[in-house]
Amino acid sequence: MEQLYFSPMLLGICLLGAIALCATALYCTVPNEPGPGFWLAGSWSLIGGIALFLVFVVTRNPVLNVLGNALQLAGEALFLLGVFRFLGQRLPWWILPISTGTMVAFNSWYWIANGSSDLLIGVYSSIAGLLPIQAIVLLLRESRDPATRPARLLVAVGLLIYSSVTLLRGYLGYQDWWHDEPYVQPYESFSYLLPYNFAIPALVLGFVGCCLMSTQRVLARSQHLAEQLREQTIRDPLTGAFNRRAFHRQLADEVARSQRYQRSLCLAMLDLDHFKQLNDQLGHQAGDNALQHFANLCQQQARHSDLFARFGGEEFVLLMPETRPDQAIAILERMRQQLASQPFRYQQHIYPLAVSIGVSQLAAEGSADQLLRQADLALYEAKNQGRNQVRLWSASPSVAY
Ligand code: GH3
Ligand code: MG
Ligand code: MG
Repeated sequence: MEQLYFSPMLLGICLLGAIALCATALYCTVPNEPGPGFWLAGSWSLIGGIALFLVFVVTRNPVLNVLGNALQLAGEALFLLGVFRFLGQRLPWWILPISTGTMVAFNSWYWIANGSSDLLIGVYSSIAGLLPIQAIVLLLRESRDPATRPARLLVAVGLLIYSSVTLLRGYLGYQDWWHDEPYVQPYESFSYLLPYNFAIPALVLGFVGCCLMSTQRVLARSQHLAEQLREQTIRDPLTGAFNRRAFHRQLADEVARSQRYQRSLCLAMLDLDHFKQLNDQLGHQAGDNALQHFANLCQQQARHSDLFARFGGEEFVLLMPETRPDQAIAILERMRQQLASQPFRYQQHIYPLAVSIGVSQLAAEGSADQLLRQADLALYEAKNQGRNQVRLWSASPSVAY
């Protein structure tokens, strides 16, 4: 009983039990993720192996010893296969039969030929210590998945400690065998100190890292999904410009901000000229491509702080905070000229595009509605005065540029 109070073996088994429960919970939460299925099987296999070993200690039935060792190695191999699967690598399935098969063969020989237990420890520890090395290298080299990097490092560190401690134990086993050291009780041997005090906690660290890796990946993916959904609600799918709803929300904010800080705010309405003709002559698909061509050009010319949105059909708006009318007109003139000078190509056709633009400036006591109406009136003027031009709204007849 006293021995149980200070038993690292008991503690090790409890730690592995906790990890097996965690791995089970992880698998039940994300059953389709690559990795958790292997970690679940690996952790239970490890516990099964240690349980068989404990029964062997009581019964001295060698079959239990052989099976227990094999099951422990199988658990470790399954755990590592989960790491490979998580990283999207080809699974080195061979590690499972090779490691367990070698152990079963060697362990059976040990019982049949009454071999050296130090040599048995050496062989077991060499296999267990060498198994994780490829996985460690892959964990450190992986660069595609930055969200899981911290947890990957944790797994690599856990495996590295496990591997080093286990190899050290193997080395001590070989040394004792080579020097033909007499058998000592486990609690008198340094090499027995290593697996339960250091190797199992390090393996547990690796398991914890694996759970973290999986949850970090799921979290990053769901954040990406939420961002995509948000984008869909504010963007026009054809041109990638903001949609009318997003524009109205931003317009209200910018009007309030400009009035509070007494900054100039300009709004432009842009309408493609004779767009119906393009649709009629080249087809609707050509019209769609032309809208994308125009939107790309405007988005390239607009500044980072401007808001470019599709207002409907072939009509767009450009909201320009902190911008005086002369600055707005310079930007819009550049857009108009570029559109006119860069012919739109569709299949073998070259089609000239032009745009009419109306601009308004927010009045000191003005409203968003007024700003829109005045830009629309200026656009109407631009259309009436021959199209392909920029017009600034003013109380007297609007001004052409
Ligand atoms: P104006 O110079 O007076 O602006 O003449 P317009 O032909 O451009 O004006 P109108 O408003 O009469 O026609 C706009 C056309 O834009 C009608 C519609 O078929 C077309 N249109 C609107 N949305 C789309 C779209 O998403 N794709 C395509 N291909 N055409 C569209
Ligand atoms: Mg038009
Ligand atoms: Mg129109």
